Amino acid sequence: MHTATRNVLIILALLFTLGLLLISQRHSILVRLLTVEGPIELAPPTQEGPNVRWHDDYFTVEALAEGVFAIGEPRYYQQNFSYLIMGEDRAVLFDAGPGHRDIRPVADSLTDLPITFIPSHFHYDHTGNTVTFEDVAVVDLPYLRARERGGKLQLSTEEHLGEIEGFATPTLEVDDWLALGSEIDLGGRTLTVLYTPGHTEESISLLESPSGFLFSGDFIYPGPLFAFLQNSGMGDYLQGAENVLSAVTPQTRIFAAHRVEAPGAPELGARDVRDLEATLHAIRNGETEATGLYPWVYVVNDRIELHAEPSWLQNWERRHPELSP
Ligand SMILES: [Zn+2]
Repeated sequence: MHTATRNVLIILALLFTLGLLLISQRHSILVRLLTVEGPIELAPPTQEGPNVRWHDDYFTVEALAEGVFAIGEPRYYQQNFSYLIMGEDRAVLFDAGPGHRDIRPVADSLTDLPITFIPSHFHYDHTGNTVTFEDVAVVDLPYLRARERGGKLQLSTEEHLGEIEGFATPTLEVDDWLALGSEIDLGGRTLTVLYTPGHTEESISLLESPSGFLFSGDFIYPGPLFAFLQNSGMGDYLQGAENVLSAVTPQTRIFAAHRVEAPGAPELGARDVRDLEATLHAIRNGETEATGLYPWVYVVNDRIELHAEPSWLQNWERRHPELSP
């Protein structure tokens, strides 16, 4: 073999190996790219409109209905929204933000009832991290149950991603395991636990009654939806959309965990979930184009994008197909 030919082959083999390495390490490379150095810088306070009041210089509070509050963190760059939902006997806090500030005094200022903390999923910007709760309930999935040791659930770094903002991966003290499809009785108000995977494997949404609100976590919100993370899945996302659509009505108000702009809590409707489902079908059938190198960006509608893996890396398997109505 010519020396020149051999050198070309060696270079090609090296490039191929490098390519494989980049693909296999893409999630850790991503985390490294996203990692924030030093303390989080807060944006200036936003104009939030007449229905929202500032609790202090950081948190906002908005009453969505009698006994239902959105607690916002508009100055944090991810603009998280957590929800305090009260019955006559007890309250649920659905998500707790990243914990750069303690959300508990905000919740305690709104109710004297015992509060159960329920994370929509395990990403660090929902688990509260530095905040401890007396009562914690998480979704009852077999693979999570199998990891429980003496009532404690150690999260994995991929589930939590807290290293992005310097948070240690927490161990949750689980008081209750929430069966999918079960109802949480708050006294005069119920929350039904819906399985809405896709963004992550353990993502849930809560369907509230009597107002009929759906609290969707990161399954759907106005902005870029992340479906390219280590435990994301495209087949799962489709299953989540189907699960939501089988539970909501055209009038359902959907309150999400992030927004991109003021004012007020991020709100969507069943129409948006239908658009998401249609986009997922179109992606699976190769009927829609993406932009971007990584992740691939698909337009869902004028408020929502789906950020996914390149088509050859998309996983259309459903990890828990039995968890649908
Ligand atoms: Zn998330």
